[in-house]
Amino acid sequence: MANSPFPELTLFITGPTYIRPEVRAAGAWPEYGHRDAENAKRFEPIFRNLGLIAGLPADYRTILFLGSGSTGMEASIRSLVAEGETVLHATVGAFGDLWHKMSVANGKKTVHLAFEPGTTVDPAVLDAALAELKPAVVAITHNETSTGVACDVPALCRVIKAHGALALVDGVSIFGGAPCPIAESGCDFYATATQKALGLHAGFGIGFVSPAAVEKARHVTGRGHATDILSHLGRAEKFQTQSTPNGALGNQMYLQLNYIVEEEGLAARYARHVAMRDMAVSFVKALPGFDLFADEGSRSPTVTAVAAAQGMTAADLRAVKEALRARGYLFDPGYAKLNEDLEAAGKRPIFRIGHMGDITPTMLEAYLKDLGEALAR
Ligand SMILES: *Cc1c(COP(=O)(O)O)cnc(C)c1O
Repeated sequence: MANSPFPELTLFITGPTYIRPEVRAAGAWPEYGHRDAENAKRFEPIFRNLGLIAGLPADYRTILFLGSGSTGMEASIRSLVAEGETVLHATVGAFGDLWHKMSVANGKKTVHLAFEPGTTVDPAVLDAALAELKPAVVAITHNETSTGVACDVPALCRVIKAHGALALVDGVSIFGGAPCPIAESGCDFYATATQKALGLHAGFGIGFVSPAAVEKARHVTGRGHATDILSHLGRAEKFQTQSTPNGALGNQMYLQLNYIVEEEGLAARYARHVAMRDMAVSFVKALPGFDLFADEGSRSPTVTAVAAAQGMTAADLRAVKEALRARGYLFDPGYAKLNEDLEAAGKRPIFRIGHMGDITPTMLEAYLKDLGEALAR
């Protein structure tokens, strides 16, 4: 872009991700007042399109938190876990661990049910834990970005609901890249964000809230302010945010959500993500010594995690990152903490291929060719 002092890099990391030129340009559209009628011209369609992408049941509510996906996740803990109650976090990687950490930091009673990285939540193990511990709230990750594992949200929510607990789901890195499981699962809170499969800059945490969750929040004390889902609802009714939003992102989101829903279409968008996942999987299968980290059946449509060849270190992966930077790409050399843990356990580190948002199969094909060459060195 004209006058930018920064290099153009195509982001193949796991978010933020590539942004289309049309979306970039909408960042230069007029500024507006967030309590003025101009605001609703942007945000009424934004709220409507989010509901369409979510396949949202009519009695659910949508909230735009200022911040990012984490803000919505923390709000759900502050607003939906009452004093003395237990929240169980069933986790399969770093982002599940992060949500657990938020609950601990907020002084909640927690149980951390952790599964091996690369695997998914075992419904039978979850069922046994719920029977024994009777948590009021259970948090799961739809798409674990650190390991490239997508969980079966409806199946896990069936288990959670059978025990009468509220189900919270982190869908940050998959919303907009695969069908949203809210209606099918009946989950009570679904968190996502703008900078992953929606193909926008970061700046809003998006929360979808069930009627049961709204009712529950009324009985929870100490919900905070920015983390109080009830305090957001009144503003959301008027297609507003609790405080001043990022106006440029509002303009861009208006354009991008219209594009997703009306131009590309949801079915085509989801099919494109599956096609890119299949391309990444084939690429890895053909790469001698490298292995897919997630099991078949739970491989994410938005991010593929790859176990490096024997003898390759996390430091080697960081060198690959620099080699690809020289070719105009930003490569993801793996989630740092996970790679530290894997290497400490004598296991091979991983890297990730982000294929979310508006990346096209053609772009991915070119990238994989360069990546193959960089890995072969
Ligand atoms: C990126 C990510 C988050 C954190 O979201 P932010 O928008 O960076 O706050 C949480 N969960 C998952 C699965 C993610 O991929």
